[in-house]
Amino acid sequence: MNAPALHAIHILARPEVPPLPPYNAGLSSEAVRARYGATEIARLASNENPFGASPAVARALAGLALHVGTYPDAQCTALRAAIAARTGVPAEAIAVGNGSEDILQMLCQAFLSPGDRVLAQRPAFGLHEIYPRMMGARVELLELTPALGFDVDAWCQALARGPKIAMLANPSNPVGCMFSAGDFARLLDATPQQTLLVVDEAYYEYALHAEGYPDVLALLRGRPMPWIVLRTFSKAWGLAGLRVGYGLASDAALVQLLDRVRTPFNVNQAAQAAALAAWGDVGFMQRGVAETVRLRGVLAQRLATLPVRMAPSAANFLFIDIGRPNGPVNEALLARGLIVKPWKEPGFEHFIRVSVGTEADNARFADALAGILEGGQ
Ligand SMILES: *Cc1c(COP(=O)(O)O)cnc(C)c1O
Repeated sequence: MNAPALHAIHILARPEVPPLPPYNAGLSSEAVRARYGATEIARLASNENPFGASPAVARALAGLALHVGTYPDAQCTALRAAIAARTGVPAEAIAVGNGSEDILQMLCQAFLSPGDRVLAQRPAFGLHEIYPRMMGARVELLELTPALGFDVDAWCQALARGPKIAMLANPSNPVGCMFSAGDFARLLDATPQQTLLVVDEAYYEYALHAEGYPDVLALLRGRPMPWIVLRTFSKAWGLAGLRVGYGLASDAALVQLLDRVRTPFNVNQAAQAAALAAWGDVGFMQRGVAETVRLRGVLAQRLATLPVRMAPSAANFLFIDIGRPNGPVNEALLARGLIVKPWKEPGFEHFIRVSVGTEADNARFADALAGILEGGQ
């Protein structure tokens, strides 16, 4: 492509679009194999579940091949009913998306105009910033405390200024820190009625193992501001490849607005069937989560013997300050077939995020990191 053509097409684009950063989805296993010649690959970059999905999912999917000629249920009726039955949120107040990132996008499309103010955390899940900017909103990013925690005072002050939307991930991705029940109650007291609170609980099922993790739905009920709690089938339920997330909202009217902007068949048939089957096997999910929480402890103990710094994590990953630029360390890890996420945001170039994988993959990662750091790379 030549430069003038690129320039011309940029002029046609909405002004918000060309400056958007690309989402950093990381390297595929195939790319690492091809580029580094690594044979044994450990995928520890995307917080995927090493234990996969319940066997009930495979059974549900096997029956679908003969039915792919019909459109999926545009309302996700069965899945919403199942989610309603377990969460106590009425089905009309539940949104389902092609991943919870789809719901983040719908929220931004439905509520944000150019110049609107959005509050989010730095570092955070990239789409908390990218989707608001796509709509022309101004994003205020709050900083972590020096101890790698949420700055609750700063959050309260910024919420009191009345942003249109506040995006809170609890626990945080990539840090793993969380707002406690007490912190969260303070945030709610500080939030004006006109602010839409988006609480991203992508790691909810893991965080239930963390002491003090708030029952946010209970705390939100009866509050005057609009809110939506986002959860996903991608992490604890092991369905990242099929893309299903859901939002539990303060009221049905909010979900009806999201319905106006979403693609009508946003959750495909396989995704709906798989999510419903996974949801029916809570035991499988809970065993995998408990094992990941145990393995996170083992990995954190091992890493504590290395010259690194870590925040305590309530999720299925660890955010590690390796005390030197992460680029060369990441290259050395890739050469050994270990895919992690080197953080690229200014101020965090010494951090890598590693997902908790199988016991063997975690040990390979810890050994490799120890060797690389000792080697002075
Ligand atoms: C993984 C993740 C999501 C996205 O989940 P999908 O349902 O796969 O789109 C959303 N928010 C956070 C904070 C995440 O880490």
